Amino acid sequence: MNGNFLSKLTFLVIVGISNIFGNIEMKNVKVTDDIEIYMTFKEGRKYACNYTVILNGNDALIIDSGYKEEASLVMEDLKRRGIRPLKQIFSHPHEDHVRGYDAFGDVEILAGEFFYEELDTSYAGIEKLEVNQVLKDGDHFSFGEHELSFMYTPGHAKCSITTIIDKKYFHVGDLVFRTEDRLLSIPYLGENNSNYVRSLEIIKEGKPDKLMLGHGDPIEGNEKINTAIDKLIYYIQNLEAGTKEITLQECLKDDASNYGFHSLHEVNLKKHKTK
Ligand SMILES: [Zn+2]
Repeated sequence: MNGNFLSKLTFLVIVGISNIFGNIEMKNVKVTDDIEIYMTFKEGRKYACNYTVILNGNDALIIDSGYKEEASLVMEDLKRRGIRPLKQIFSHPHEDHVRGYDAFGDVEILAGEFFYEELDTSYAGIEKLEVNQVLKDGDHFSFGEHELSFMYTPGHAKCSITTIIDKKYFHVGDLVFRTEDRLLSIPYLGENNSNYVRSLEIIKEGKPDKLMLGHGDPIEGNEKINTAIDKLIYYIQNLEAGTKEITLQECLKDDASNYGFHSLHEVNLKKHKTK
């Protein structure tokens, strides 16, 4: 954690909470007056789980639900504030985004196509997760004063969707994510590399003001967003063009010390360079 968290547009509240599951810290990052991101940090894990909350008075729409015990802490805090979750959107069905789903009570659940295809149903309780509305590319609706629209952005997962709020705040799930220390993570190429690149290009073309991520603090400002996206595209294209021995540094636009989760490079090589 470093001191430059307190930018002009971002106000942080850091709340330390201990519970029976071990040390979990939680903070809340305000994106606007009624869009905020809860982040939970579990001891021993190097990344935050993000819960993006869009408020309409005391009603809330939540994007992603992390893990159960952490999601329960987020819910406790929402309850304390008199806020009631009504809808929940999943950026994609990986376990670190869905396992806390039932902490938010009986809410309407929205997710992209192919959600069940990619959902690992071996986790206790996950079989009860029922998607009430399938979100397709171009779908849109209002929540309070906000206009939400959805883009199909596969690459990390087959069913990944990007939620666009008021045409300028983009929730991109794990297409882009950061470490606890705000380093851009090596991407996890969970699905298809050309889809991944195309999805990043579409996001860039949308000229977002802020990128809200699956993990870590948002990226603010067009220039920073473009830089991050270009670095990811560079990595993917070089990995794609290289041999199965290509090193992480050979795939990167700048020094590897500027990136987090280097071990994902090995995972990506195994997945995409088996031949
Ligand atoms: Zn994730």
